Amino acid sequence: MTINKIEFSIFHFSSINKQFSFVECSIPKDDGSLATFVGFRIQHDNARGPMKGGIRYHPEVDPDEVNALAQLMTWKTAVAAIPYGGAKGGIGCNPRELSMSELERLTRVFTQKIHDLIGIHRDVPAPDMGTNSQTMAWILDEYSKFHGHSPAVVTGKPIDLGGSLGREAATGLGVFFATEALLAEHGKSISNMKFAIQGFGNVGSWAAKFFHEHGGKVVAVSDITGAIKNPNGIDVPALLKYKKSNKSLNDFQGGNAMDLNDLLVHECDVLVPCALGGVLNKENAADVKAKFIIEAANHPTDPEADEILSKKGVVILPDIYANSGGVTVSYFEWVQNIQGFMWEEEKVNHELKRYMMSAFKDIKTMCQTHNCNLRMGAFTLGVNRVAQATLLRGWE
Ligand code: GLU
Repeated sequence: MTINKIEFSIFHFSSINKQFSFVECSIPKDDGSLATFVGFRIQHDNARGPMKGGIRYHPEVDPDEVNALAQLMTWKTAVAAIPYGGAKGGIGCNPRELSMSELERLTRVFTQKIHDLIGIHRDVPAPDMGTNSQTMAWILDEYSKFHGHSPAVVTGKPIDLGGSLGREAATGLGVFFATEALLAEHGKSISNMKFAIQGFGNVGSWAAKFFHEHGGKVVAVSDITGAIKNPNGIDVPALLKYKKSNKSLNDFQGGNAMDLNDLLVHECDVLVPCALGGVLNKENAADVKAKFIIEAANHPTDPEADEILSKKGVVILPDIYANSGGVTVSYFEWVQNIQGFMWEEEKVNHELKRYMMSAFKDIKTMCQTHNCNLRMGAFTLGVNRVAQATLLRGWE
């Protein structure tokens, strides 16, 4: 990232409470053997409020990546103008290879080890890759054994335990609002645009659904099991239904199977990476056909690809804005828990749209002031807000 290219009004700052925590989590497997995993919680900054960020379960999760993701959360919450700092956690494990009861044991042991690090006004975890509302329910239950019932200690919970209506769809809906705002800037709309979507999990599937509902043509979709294409547009509701009862995308009748690696360079107007980081790199960036990239995943574009794509004139909507819908509705969930008052889904979605539109406007203002692209505009906005809070607290 070429962050030093821009003149920030205030750049140097420090924070208190920055903490890296690594914990060993041993659990008995279902077959009676013992398995040990390493868990992390990295708390990056709390100048603007309690730290906030997901917990991911993935075999390749490592401290460097979790640290980078924790920093992204700090800028993301600042861009979204929600009163949080940034953190991220994870466990190096393959959730697909663990049974439900093994996952439960692992989550509970992890929570026992980090319960003093998290808290309603300290650090509030949420789902991320490989985790979901059930994982949050286990964390909540285990945390409550130490601290009493505290629904606001995690977000992305099941509705029955104080989760927010609309939270599950929130990242995908936020991606949709962000895309709509960007296209409108370029005199275009969702309708009739061709979308290629990498990843059909929580984010990709909801985003695809919203694009489809608004007349967008989803011409290619992939997940780790396979990829399909259909130049006339995939029937997204049918694919969602198919995915519920079938493991692999490849055999879906409403499209033709394609090579997984071709998804990112598939013919389309809008490319939406919704899976892992670093998928757009110097190997494939030059071959990207899309005119717009919406970073629904965290850091899908590496710095070399960023440069190649920018030179090609591809407009990139950066992750710290594009996927901020999830953490924004997490904030609404936390507010509802603290107020003890549940919002209707309509209100959640309406507020989400308001926050997404307002952040887009603020980023555009930064871009105009500094004559820079959207990524630089978003980072400038986020860093300045954090720096301002840091100075006001007297930490510098
Ligand atoms: N894991 C999501 C993200 O990367 C959501 C975080 C949250 O809701 O705290 O933004």
